[in-house]
Amino acid sequence: MLYGQEDLRLEEVADPTPAAGEVVIQVGAATTCGTDLKVWRRGGHAKMLKPPTLFGHEAAGQIVALGAGVQGWQVGDRIVANNSAPCTQCFFCQRQEYSLCPNLTWNNGTFAKYLKIPAPIVQQNMLRIPDELPWELAAMTEPLACVLHGIGRSQVKESDRVVILGDGAIGLMFVAVLAEKTEVLLWGGNDHRLVIGKKLGAAQTFNYHQIPDIPGVVKELTDGWGADVVIEATGVPSVWENAIACARPGATVNLFGGCPRDTTISVNTEQLHYSELTLKGVFHNTPEYVRTALSLLASRQIPFELLISEHRPLSDLEQVFNDMKARKVIKVALTPC
Ligand SMILES: [Zn+2]
Ligand SMILES: [Zn+2]
Repeated sequence: MLYGQEDLRLEEVADPTPAAGEVVIQVGAATTCGTDLKVWRRGGHAKMLKPPTLFGHEAAGQIVALGAGVQGWQVGDRIVANNSAPCTQCFFCQRQEYSLCPNLTWNNGTFAKYLKIPAPIVQQNMLRIPDELPWELAAMTEPLACVLHGIGRSQVKESDRVVILGDGAIGLMFVAVLAEKTEVLLWGGNDHRLVIGKKLGAAQTFNYHQIPDIPGVVKELTDGWGADVVIEATGVPSVWENAIACARPGATVNLFGGCPRDTTISVNTEQLHYSELTLKGVFHNTPEYVRTALSLLASRQIPFELLISEHRPLSDLEQVFNDMKARKVIKVALTPC
């Protein structure tokens, strides 16, 4: 249970029972995420949850109970469920802009032995996983779906030079997917993570502690123009501004990392106008990207397991969050015991 700022407690709660349309799974593995760290440090999240609440949003597991009327599923099925589902009825859903749905059903509580999946998620965003796919890889479906959504909106072309700012799990997932077709330059603050960025295909990596003039270096490496596509994956307003400064004329800048509430950035109007920049905000994922993400994970084409720093028992939960805060780990796979 998350009670507030840096106040996470392991407690006995009643086992969930599924109402009509719902499913309960026994968690095989739950993975931690940068969003969890952010929510834990801030003590809440505007859209996703309000403490006191069950916590954690990435998990895969096995169905142990089915509510009335659930069709096509059986006890024992291995599944992954996204942490949200759109309503399918609203203005945005009718236009297939599912990530903008104001009535998203959210689900939290993966850091537990059992997890209840709400009916809209069962209907739209719960997927069967192949027998041979480990729980912790399947659990990464949600963040990867967000990343694939981000890439889908970034107008990336083959052989583009792409700058990625941020060496967290999300930044590294962007590297892994984009490195197949583009030349990726990765900036981060942690040498260990940058090594993983290289393993995932980054052409070059840079530690901003040593090389702080990011736009200067990007321009040097791109004949003075700047990158074709820039992806910001830190959620820091000053880094958003830096991302825009790395863009070539005509570039797309994907401002992907969610910043603290009520923050603003400055944009140079001359650069935006005369350089015809596209500045994109991209939020969350859609049912289509949830499916593509699971297929990509199941294909094992990309070694996403490099993002799992450790496997730990759920009883270590608090220590795991302190390790994330200290940036000692990228993602941790938690197993209930
Ligand atoms: Zn996540
Ligand atoms: Zn909707």
